[in-house]
Amino acid sequence: MSTDVRDELPFPEEHGERAVWAIVDRDSRLHRIDGTFLGMGSSHRPEHKGHPGEPHAPRGTHCSTCRWTEIRLFETSDHELFVVNCGASDVPGERDLVRVTSVATAFELVESLTAIDRRTQQSVLPMPARRALAQAASHSPRVRDAYINSPVTR
Ligand SMILES: [Zn+2]
Repeated sequence: MSTDVRDELPFPEEHGERAVWAIVDRDSRLHRIDGTFLGMGSSHRPEHKGHPGEPHAPRGTHCSTCRWTEIRLFETSDHELFVVNCGASDVPGERDLVRVTSVATAFELVESLTAIDRRTQQSVLPMPARRALAQAASHSPRVRDAYINSPVTR
């Protein structure tokens, strides 16, 4: 049991650190994840696009500087795996929407991060999830195994 309680979502540089991660989800529920922050990926981009002349993207306009996704992965000492998905926004009046889900196995973890590409109807692993898994592979042998051996990561 760690007594180092952190109540902010960790930065990518903190991967591999152990603590009690206190995370509030979109429904104001508090989750306490006692374990290792395995890794993170983000779709944030430094340059605005698609809304010239306006400081913030209107609803429905895709700009990964205004709105983006962050995926964080955690593993507890009793081998539970957590995905913390943050739909982040820099647009005034909007807030970050955090979802916390847990899975028992690393292959389920990869499956839960898999999405269907709307154009090709193929299973894909979106870039933030791919980056988070790649980072997590350094800290968890079973995540590494699933990362290497899941069909979607090949
Ligand atoms: Zn923008």
